[in-house]
Amino acid sequence: MQKYIFTFFLALTISLPAWTQLAVKSLRCENLNNPAGLDVLQPRFGWQLASDQQNILQTAYEIRVATSEKALQSGKNLLWTSGKKMSDVSQWITYSGPALQSSQKYFWQVRVWDNQKQASPWSEVAYWQVGLLNAADWKAKWIMPGFLDTVGMPNPYFRKTFSTKKKIASATAFITAHGLYEAWINGQRIGDAYLTPGWTSYNKRLQYQAYDVTNLLTNGNNAVGAVLGSGWYRGNLGWSTKYNIYGRDIALLFQLEITYTDGTKETIGSDDSWKSDTGAIRFTEIYHGETIDTRLEQKGWSSFGFDDGKWSGVEVTNLPMNNLVATYNQPVRKHAIFKPKIFRTPKGELVADFGQNLVGWCVLQLNGEAGEQVSLQHFEVLDKAGNVYMDNMRSAKVTARYILNGEGVQTLEPHFTFFGFRYVKIDGYSSIKPENITAVALYSDMPETGTFSCSNRLLNQLQHNIQWGQRGNFLDVPTDCPQRDERMGWTGDAQAFSRTAMYNFDAFNFFAKWARDIDADQYENGSVPFVIPAVLGDPGGSTGWADVVTIVPWNSFLVYGDTMVLQRQYRSMKAWVDFMQMKSTNDLWNTGFHFGDWLFYSPGDDDRDGRAAVTDKYMIAQCFYAHSTQLLINAANVLGKNDDVKRYTDLLNRVKTAYQKEYVTPNGRLISGTQTAYVLALHFDMLPEFQRAAAAKSLADNVKSYGNHITTGFLGTPYICNELTRFGYADVAYTLLFQKTYPSWLYPVTMGATTIWERWDGIKPDSTFQTPTMNSFNHYAYGAIGEWMYRTVAGLDADPATGGYKKLLIHPHPSDSLTNARATYESLYGRVGSHWETDDDDLLLHVEIPPNTTAVIMIPAKSAADIYENGKQPVVKAVEGEKNYFMLEKGSGIYHFRSKGLRNKK
Ligand code: BGC
Repeated sequence: MQKYIFTFFLALTISLPAWTQLAVKSLRCENLNNPAGLDVLQPRFGWQLASDQQNILQTAYEIRVATSEKALQSGKNLLWTSGKKMSDVSQWITYSGPALQSSQKYFWQVRVWDNQKQASPWSEVAYWQVGLLNAADWKAKWIMPGFLDTVGMPNPYFRKTFSTKKKIASATAFITAHGLYEAWINGQRIGDAYLTPGWTSYNKRLQYQAYDVTNLLTNGNNAVGAVLGSGWYRGNLGWSTKYNIYGRDIALLFQLEITYTDGTKETIGSDDSWKSDTGAIRFTEIYHGETIDTRLEQKGWSSFGFDDGKWSGVEVTNLPMNNLVATYNQPVRKHAIFKPKIFRTPKGELVADFGQNLVGWCVLQLNGEAGEQVSLQHFEVLDKAGNVYMDNMRSAKVTARYILNGEGVQTLEPHFTFFGFRYVKIDGYSSIKPENITAVALYSDMPETGTFSCSNRLLNQLQHNIQWGQRGNFLDVPTDCPQRDERMGWTGDAQAFSRTAMYNFDAFNFFAKWARDIDADQYENGSVPFVIPAVLGDPGGSTGWADVVTIVPWNSFLVYGDTMVLQRQYRSMKAWVDFMQMKSTNDLWNTGFHFGDWLFYSPGDDDRDGRAAVTDKYMIAQCFYAHSTQLLINAANVLGKNDDVKRYTDLLNRVKTAYQKEYVTPNGRLISGTQTAYVLALHFDMLPEFQRAAAAKSLADNVKSYGNHITTGFLGTPYICNELTRFGYADVAYTLLFQKTYPSWLYPVTMGATTIWERWDGIKPDSTFQTPTMNSFNHYAYGAIGEWMYRTVAGLDADPATGGYKKLLIHPHPSDSLTNARATYESLYGRVGSHWETDDDDLLLHVEIPPNTTAVIMIPAKSAADIYENGKQPVVKAVEGEKNYFMLEKGSGIYHFRSKGLRNKK
């Protein structure tokens, strides 16, 4: 106990810098740290206040912007200043100066005033660089190799040399591709992003990246090189034998803009002066892996002095430019690395075990003979006997193959593929040692924002698994799973997990970018494809999947407080609700195909008592119809669209009435008696007030009738513990959370899982597997319980009435089975913390509230008189409708409460 208190205080002291004054930090532009290549015409600014005093609120701010750092700091020749604005708003403040120019870098600063009459100094300088705003800004031309190139053939390489005559001040490269690209200048890789340009609905929105390459260029002779891969563009994608989804040809678009010290500019673009050839990469596919024959590497191919006499020219092609957009999300980057244990399986297979199911690839360091081969096959689990298990990869070959050149130690890694794996099977190079191989995790470089830990080791492992599930599946788009021949942006999975995702990581830009693809790929009639980017050619419109269009933007608003996402997605949200309305008769939507409560509990063949938790699909559809309509109303309210508020509120009432008529008996029983049926009815307020308590009891009873097991699938899982808690059954929610036998969250943990599984019983208690056709061991949907752990177990939440964390809600629900729980969250305003722990019979609650926010804190206590803050009794109010909770409001600061005798059962 002592130790916990000590660590907490230590953590607090370390995290608080030693300023006594007000300061500004964490400057962001469109929520990004010094972004390059933004095409937002009026970007938004955000910052945090830093102060070691309590109750700090911003009362005014002043922003200034200039085109050079010097001008900015002198305060003269400013491009724009907001002037001193009396306001407590410190996020999403719109630039409203003169029109921004393509490629121009803008510098900005801010200073603030607070409610303690303090003024901050000007902040450090931040910047953003504008992208290419008009198609005409692209001087470069699309180029393809000058030789036959189709899917499955060796990858095309491109190069170009040029000489500069003046001194370079700065240089930016704008690059994109049909397919995937990597690029080099003078033999050095440009940037640290992987799998670029990422995955979007390419034909409508193709992202380019902007890189500051000033340091890669020399004053004089330079060379640029690039290599392409088939990637999502034309590689095997979307199950089975689908290829060439976006087109048959891959192509490169590369524009280098150099500014000289004399202020003049020069552009080097891809055009007919470039050369092309093949090289070491012989084959590459997202599902199937990569083959690199290092004997065929053309040494120095991206350097100036290289002899490209034998290279072909290139074909200039007239591909569209009007679909080019700047990158809005953080790119995929390399993250943690893992060292393996190497062993032989009973069958004799040579296997490296990295101890963590992750997504990325292995980096090898080998020294072998010329022509010697080594291949790595990536997989997730060993079978019952301890041998390699590949069946659940389905048709994905997941193989990295290298042919060595015999010239000393070689570093080998793939370029245009990724794998979901914990293990690799190694063929060839049987003398391999652990030090020859590391695994590196690759995922979208979102800042980590959430931590959750508690006194239960298994729950901590569950949290670890949820976070690794997210790391593995947030690879430019939210995928269902990262390993088999699938890896698509399944909408149902993403909506179910989105709120948890936003606790763990700052997923604002990630989802905002993906939401634009949702918008781009949504059908004319409002239906939403099953996967985004849409590559299946499906009709879409499955309930709980298509609702991603309302759920993700709304969650973004709740967590980040940005109204622009709502504004942008509003058309799409509305189109989806209108679609459901169009398909309904008398406000009842009971047509079309639906996945339903995917992967709900089903005991299999001998289900004589009908224990399979089947929920009527149309009943689910009616619930999500109401939910999406409600979220549309919420968005309309935020955006001030009063006519829509009225129109859709009327619709919502009718949708609920239709639900009650069709699916609820006069006594309040639902026609499907499953946990999911009750959870959705409660969570979306489908029942009249007077029936809710009984429905909640039915839900709790149902849980008990399954021996405190969860039976929900993808759609019921995210909300079950929330609804149990909301109606006074937090204890039942906890029994679900602590349950260790199948089906439960902890069952996979007890089976050694290091990520969330697709199925409650991916590995059965007898160590056999679920069907290999659908058995991913890295599928985040069930990880949606993470939200409840942050929000309810630790009690860290935002007030749903205001967007973002401007107003916090601290509302912990201590369990007798835990002695402590703690969550932190890096909100846009700064760190929020909620931490409770037991101290004999007392409960201690420690709360951290960042500057410029306020919090409502709900303290569990037997009576108001039991609550102490620093030895004194604070003024608290009983919480209406919640027994044993007392509330108070606080401004920023760190607070410690003691609730005396709370744990004393007498
Ligand atoms: C995917 C999902 C997805 C589902 C649709 C599966 O193949 O892996 O997680 O949501 O299909 O029902």
